[in-house]
Amino acid sequence: MRAAVITGPGAAEISEVPTPEPGPGEVLVAIEGCGVCGSDLPVWEGRPWFEYPRAPGAPGHEGWGRVVDVGADVRGPAPGARVAAICFASDAEFDVAAADAVVTLPAELDGQPFPGEALGCAMNVARRCEFEAGQTVAIVGVGFLGALLVQIAARAGARVIAIARRPYALRVAREMGAEHTFSTDDEDVVGAVEELTGGMLCDRVLEVTGHQGPLDLAARLVRVRGRLVIAGYHQDGPRTVDMGLWNWRGIDVVNAHEREQVTYVRGVREAADAIAAGLLDPQPLYTHEFGLARIGDAFAAAIERPEGFLKALVRP
Ligand SMILES: [Zn+2]
Repeated sequence: MRAAVITGPGAAEISEVPTPEPGPGEVLVAIEGCGVCGSDLPVWEGRPWFEYPRAPGAPGHEGWGRVVDVGADVRGPAPGARVAAICFASDAEFDVAAADAVVTLPAELDGQPFPGEALGCAMNVARRCEFEAGQTVAIVGVGFLGALLVQIAARAGARVIAIARRPYALRVAREMGAEHTFSTDDEDVVGAVEELTGGMLCDRVLEVTGHQGPLDLAARLVRVRGRLVIAGYHQDGPRTVDMGLWNWRGIDVVNAHEREQVTYVRGVREAADAIAAGLLDPQPLYTHEFGLARIGDAFAAAIERPEGFLKALVRP
């Protein structure tokens, strides 16, 4: 099969490698496509602790496709099932996944892309936000995940304030249901939100960027006894927090990442059900598509975020 191999920082090639065989409890998935994730980018850009070349197909972990073979002791899904798979080498024509790490996609999703891990992540973050009708929810950072969360919060009946850097992202946030939008560069975002909320600030504030500045801004938008939900992926060193402010306001701080496979899978299943039921619509957010041979361009787009960019999908 053909698989993308990252041979060094900023360099990828397509290699012909043996198609993996599903072991006991595993299924072989013919990949239809795989999302490019923000968490893929450090290994593409290069960090001192990574060794190259990376495994064929890595770091693709947002793959979906059709089961074409199953190993021993697999009770489901059967060959032919269209699934999203939590596995880690899906930038390739095939990938193997544990049978209990795949979610069979409902027929309503036929023909739609389904980068499962990314969609499941949004559902898992939303669960820990406990959105309710009537809440004021600020979302700082509107990429693919932030835009999904705007949609989920708005559909839960919350009043959503979206804050982002790119004018395009703010337009998307409004389309997804945000009532108010502010640029991160605006002089006094906190003052504006204070004004909107009669000085109360926000019941829920979601930080969806992974950077220090927006984390600081997010904290300042949380009301007394509100909840700060950190969905950004902070992986380039320690952060500082204004403990005095957290303390004084008595805020709950939630790090909304999940590490258990069973929770990932639960989120993916919930996302599939929500889309099938018409409660979630990620389709307008899949903005860029690349063939496997152009995976380097897909990573570059995810880094540079050209006008109109929210999510790249790679097709083998
Ligand atoms: Zn991901």
